[in-house]
Amino acid sequence: MNDQYEIIDHQHDVVVVGAGGAGLRAVRGLADAGLSTACVTKVFPTRSHTVAAQGGIASALGNMGEDDWRWHAYDTVKGSDWLGDQDAIEHLTKEAIPSIVELEHDGVPFSRLDNGKIYQRPFGGMTTHYGQGQAERTCAAADRTGHALLHTLYQQSLKARAEFFVEFFATDLLTTEDGEIKGVLAWDLQGGRLHRFRGHQVILATGGYGRAYFSCTSAHTCTGDGMGMALRAGVPLQDPEFVQFHPTGVYGAGCLITEGARGEGGYLTNGNGERFMERYAPNAKDLASRDVVSRAMTVEINEGRGVGENADHIMLHLEHLGPEVLHERLPGITETAEIFSGVDATKDPIPVLPTVHYCMGGIPTNPFGEVVTKDGDDPDSLVPGLMAVGETACVSVHGANRLGSNALLDLVVFGRAAAKRCTELITPGARHHADISASEQQALERFDALRYANGSTPTAELRASLQNSMQTYAAVFRNTENLAKGVNKIAEEVQSFSDVHVSDRSMTWNSDLVETMELQNLLECAICTVNAASNRTESRGAHAHEEYTERDDENWIKHTLTWYQGGTDVEIDYRPVHMNPMTDEMAYIPPKERVY
Ligand SMILES: Cc1cc2nc3c(=O)[nH]c(=O)nc-3n(C[C@H](O)[C@H](O)[C@H](O)COP(=O)(O)OP(=O)(O)OC[C@H]3O[C@@H](n4cnc5c(N)ncnc54)[C@H](O)[C@@H]3O)c2cc1C
Repeated sequence: MNDQYEIIDHQHDVVVVGAGGAGLRAVRGLADAGLSTACVTKVFPTRSHTVAAQGGIASALGNMGEDDWRWHAYDTVKGSDWLGDQDAIEHLTKEAIPSIVELEHDGVPFSRLDNGKIYQRPFGGMTTHYGQGQAERTCAAADRTGHALLHTLYQQSLKARAEFFVEFFATDLLTTEDGEIKGVLAWDLQGGRLHRFRGHQVILATGGYGRAYFSCTSAHTCTGDGMGMALRAGVPLQDPEFVQFHPTGVYGAGCLITEGARGEGGYLTNGNGERFMERYAPNAKDLASRDVVSRAMTVEINEGRGVGENADHIMLHLEHLGPEVLHERLPGITETAEIFSGVDATKDPIPVLPTVHYCMGGIPTNPFGEVVTKDGDDPDSLVPGLMAVGETACVSVHGANRLGSNALLDLVVFGRAAAKRCTELITPGARHHADISASEQQALERFDALRYANGSTPTAELRASLQNSMQTYAAVFRNTENLAKGVNKIAEEVQSFSDVHVSDRSMTWNSDLVETMELQNLLECAICTVNAASNRTESRGAHAHEEYTERDDENWIKHTLTWYQGGTDVEIDYRPVHMNPMTDEMAYIPPKERVY
């Protein structure tokens, strides 16, 4: 079999897989520091899902009023429902300030105030004075912040002479016999050849796995490829049970209406025309944390107070803001409302529904991007040669629930930190001599087996089944019976993958094979998600359990780790949450009740 695959070799100091905000921020820093950097990406950099980010990026600049990064840290710890690591959160919120200044110097066209400073808008869960006031903290380029960010970082990366391998699909990590990560195998979708990329560090920046669900705001490319690669290399996923539902996906289509819409004064109503959020979050109301708003909407619908013929959705009102504000601050979402629900948002409310939006879980890392796993008693042991940044990673700064505008921030802060760490670890131009032949052989065998997969289940059929199962069994509200059903159902689907059918055998532009590889990654993420969810007998952040309705700090302030390497069994273990900040500049934030 393998003789037919002549592999093209590349050697770089660092190989970054992914060119979204996280990958590009790392690439820009690496190339700028003089490390030879390859960026391998399955879609053109500026088409990465980051391009769709609308609302903005948080940073306590204090341009519109008082602010302090410690308040931002407090909000993030509380938002995480005390599952976030406080040392990482300190790093995130403190470094947010220089990170945004750098972006601005790099040329991100932020919206401005009359005095020339960056405009900042309110966002859910972002407060001043430790929960007392509403912060204006989220920097935005109108409602196209991700677009602006990606274009700027791509241009800066080109300027720094990083090498891009565009429309190259990374299939597997290449490792030594001792488990050191030394490169990746990638398939050139246009040229039809396989490529070996050797690097002293490999940085996975491949985004989330929202596409494991039927209704999500994520791009079709968000298929958890990096997570799948890590799992196959023996690296666990951390906290996969925490999947965020965004309150305002467009009803029917799933595409996102940014939280910035509520930040600008939008509000929700039920079938009786009532502003129900006042009952659930008396202070923050429509700007409570996302898990809180999504649950409130689901309760309204489940109790028969939804909107429409089937009482199955909720209305988002922006019409009172006036065409001028909508035009200036929310032009993209006015367009989205028009295209996907036929609504003129300047006149009528938009029908919305909670929709899968973000994966809090991912490949466990420390605040420098280095992948950690649990080795015996050492909960923070490193996986040599591997880093992860962005949505594919779990640092963990978002814990059980991410605050809006903290994800873009996560990309740039930890992309930057990973690049910096590489400059400390790597001597530019050091030789590559590790023996990775056994893992390469395995990766080739997997590639070949999928290319010639000749079962009877079409990829699209199995994917649809998986997406329905996740939507049904790992939803906004969970219970023991449903989770048990979900564990069995996903296990069946994982087994059915051995019967998958790929009809196109060609090496060029073979979307059938690409989608099949993506499906395998989705299945691996999904089986970890349902098993981890079924094990966690409490409610915390995005994990709302109908029988265990309270947060159980005595037993459950701990991160889940899931290992999966084939079959239907997922190995589960736990590691402690880092409750202590990194320095004494920030005070420890003890757990307390989470009310908004
Ligand atoms: C609609 C929407 C709006 C959002 N709005 C906001 C917001 O306003 N503020 C905020 O903070 N967060 C927001 N988020 C969340 C945030 O945008 C994402 O978490 C973030 O953009 C993820 O960035 P990333 O760099 O990790 O991955 P992505 O941007 O998803 O990029 C992944 C990259 O990996 C590459 N890749 C993947 N698999 C492979 C493979 N097998 N081989 C090679 N390359 C591969 C892709 O080509 C791509 O370049 C939003 C998310 C969505 C879906």
